Amino acid sequence: SPVLVLFRDDFRLADHPALFGACTTGQPVLCVYVHDPETTRGGAIGWWLAQACTALADALSEKGGTLHHLSGHTPDVVAEFAQAAGVDTVFWNRRYDPTGKAQDTALKARLEQQGISVQSCAARLLHEPWTIRTGAGTPYRVFTAWWKAARAMGNPGRCLPAPRQITFSPLPADARALTLRTLPPAPPLPAGASAAEADWPCTEADAQDTLTTFVEDNLAHYIQEHDRPDKDTTSRLSPYLRAGLLSARQVWHAVSTAATTPALAENAEKFLSELGWRDFAWMQLFYEPDLAWRNLRPEFDHMPWQKSPALLAAWQQGQTGYPLVDAGMRQLYATGWMHNRVRMVVASFLTKHLLTDWREGEQWFQARLVDADPAQNAMNWQWCAGTGIDASPWFRIFNPVGQSEKFDPTGAYIRTWVPELRQMPDKLIHTPWKADASLCRQIGFTPGRSYPNPIVDLKLARGIALECWKNLPDRK
Ligand code: FAD
Repeated sequence: SPVLVLFRDDFRLADHPALFGACTTGQPVLCVYVHDPETTRGGAIGWWLAQACTALADALSEKGGTLHHLSGHTPDVVAEFAQAAGVDTVFWNRRYDPTGKAQDTALKARLEQQGISVQSCAARLLHEPWTIRTGAGTPYRVFTAWWKAARAMGNPGRCLPAPRQITFSPLPADARALTLRTLPPAPPLPAGASAAEADWPCTEADAQDTLTTFVEDNLAHYIQEHDRPDKDTTSRLSPYLRAGLLSARQVWHAVSTAATTPALAENAEKFLSELGWRDFAWMQLFYEPDLAWRNLRPEFDHMPWQKSPALLAAWQQGQTGYPLVDAGMRQLYATGWMHNRVRMVVASFLTKHLLTDWREGEQWFQARLVDADPAQNAMNWQWCAGTGIDASPWFRIFNPVGQSEKFDPTGAYIRTWVPELRQMPDKLIHTPWKADASLCRQIGFTPGRSYPNPIVDLKLARGIALECWKNLPDRK
């Protein structure tokens, strides 16, 4: 009888424990993907995951197999399909988000009731959420302590190779009617995301190439450059990790194997700790399933957030009059990705200078990011807004001009994304409203018309943000 492998956000053949485990049974394999309305996503991430799923289907077809598509609620349709196909074991890689966990628990119960066994595997993270705990047996709430404990556990296990050969099962006749003949249309890219397709080639080989290029060209200056959006030398692996086109373990081993010299070792250690934040975010979501909508610090429930559609729209569209903020928001809009330093700056600006609820930002990022991830996005928004655990304190308010001068000193990043400012001299690129009339005439720049004037006064807005925070009841 055949065994079944269920693919979900792990669209790869290498280091795929569920697929590897299924192949080692020696039984013929059925590969399945479910179009499930409960977990299907729209926006840029919906588009990205659909690309990744197609790439997997192509890779399986090159090996002579098929990715069978089902449609419906995962526990129902997989149980029904497995029964009809006479499957004896279902393999999957574990999920840690609340919906995924609930679905997999229900599916496991259904399958076992039907006499079908389940093999679930660890694949998505370096360390599963419950494996690293404090001495008191509780989940860590501080990243540095968690990271120290994670490092003490040594390297994660070795990567599994892609199965050299997969013996595909023909689709049993009784199961045929349950598979989709025509696939649901893939979600389109959001309007304006014109550069996303070219920026994000989407196969397992593309993910590996991105990793190799990073290790060979940019790992050596990661510490020095990872905060510099103008250099753009971070790995850009987040979309590939999100869709599971490669595993965190593959990234870990590629980076730590390369870290042979002391200089590289230091850079590798810094990079690995960033990868550690990914696990830390997933641990938070595992224990705080409402991470995306509940302030983990309840005192922030009393924050008098402004509800200004005009300010929110200016932020979303990159029209705030603060060049670094606008460059970041436009990069996100066009490409589905934004540099981490700029993500922090735009998040601080939205929540503190515009005093807008972080959940508005979280949702906008969810709709526009190709790496939109329920754990990393929510944790980082709570971190930036000061509402999370081990978060940046509220009173740490990034000055978008200072950040711009420090991390994009010549304005190269700004000029890429805010073409209206291309002619601005370096010393005014961060504060174009200070350009005098003669310069404006010379470069054909009309303040407020060529490019918006600042939508808020930084000093005033900062003062209000601090005042609101000081007045929070039960502030800790
Ligand atoms: P690199 O610097 O090369 O880092 C390598 C990997 O480490 C990343 O791919 C990512 O998996 C992980 N990583 C790095 N920084 C973080 C971090 N702060 N938190 C968690 N993991 C991290 N990342 C997402 O993958 N999805 C999101 O939805 C997301 N939303 C964010 C929202 C905000 C407000 C902020 C401030 C950050 C967010 N991040 C998110 C984290 C980070 O910005 C991206 O992971 C990073 O910019 C991706 O680029 P990279 O792969 O070149 O990063």
